[in-house]
Amino acid sequence: MLLILSSIILALSAMASRFTPPTRAQQLAAIGPTAALPRPLQRALEPRDDFQPLPEPGPSDWLANHAEVGQTFDEFAGSLPNRPDNHRGKLYLQPLGTFNESDAPSLDPLRRFTAAFFMMEVVVLPPADLAQNHITSRRNPWTGQSQLLTGDILNALTARLPKDAFVLLGITMMDLYPDPSWNFVFGQASPRDRVGVYSFARYDPKFYGEAPATDSRKLMLRRSCRVLAHETCHMFGIEHCVWFRCLMNGSNHLAESDARPLHLCPVDLRKLQWSIGYDVVERYQRLLSFYREEGFEDEAQWLEKRLRFIAPRE
Ligand SMILES: [Zn+2]
Ligand SMILES: [Zn+2]
Repeated sequence: MLLILSSIILALSAMASRFTPPTRAQQLAAIGPTAALPRPLQRALEPRDDFQPLPEPGPSDWLANHAEVGQTFDEFAGSLPNRPDNHRGKLYLQPLGTFNESDAPSLDPLRRFTAAFFMMEVVVLPPADLAQNHITSRRNPWTGQSQLLTGDILNALTARLPKDAFVLLGITMMDLYPDPSWNFVFGQASPRDRVGVYSFARYDPKFYGEAPATDSRKLMLRRSCRVLAHETCHMFGIEHCVWFRCLMNGSNHLAESDARPLHLCPVDLRKLQWSIGYDVVERYQRLLSFYREEGFEDEAQWLEKRLRFIAPRE
């Protein structure tokens, strides 16, 4: 009996800690050989000690509850993901419903961030009228808040996908649900149709009845930038990251998401660069000016340090 009990306990603890942080050799193998790449890109892919290892997941964290094997650069490139080109080279953002100055992230900083992050032209479309697009809504039985049905939104977006769009992403301050039996969903996408929809509602402290913090505008913008960049990277075929602490780490709850950095680890930076073909130095410089303007000090300092290594001034 005791033996059975102790083996059950062993099995349970093995389940809870099935994530083993990768070794440096595994991290480098996931990045892949870089000798043939241009010098600045090669340096941008050198981790040094600028990328933190993932901590052991706590019981409610993503990696304790989802078995992620990780996607190497080679696996990504071999999966023949969607890539932007001259005909389908723009990122479109479609606001759904209203974005109030008081509680929503401003659309212009969101656009500037997305343009710098992906080094692509970003177009913010005029807000769409929900009724005109036949989008079903309901009042959530638990929170009492209005919610939109994601399937209807994805259908409406697919029908109006611009010819030159790489992707069309709906963004909204309304809460979402994917099916009447669900409580809510943060977002949903159909990468094959190149459309997705994401809600910022649950990133607003007010959603949980908390008083707005002094820097709540900055917090809201930062959270919105993070979710938009993370989800848009998924549209490029980039999967969740297990190699380093990275924008592409999965997250199970708000605290875990808040702890994610805004930058990509070398494995995912290489994937995005391969897809888009941007200049890594120019991209970091554009992001750096955005972070300085918006007061994202930690990210600005991190980028300054990386830039000193990647492109040292002679
Ligand atoms: Zn994700
Ligand atoms: Zn990563």
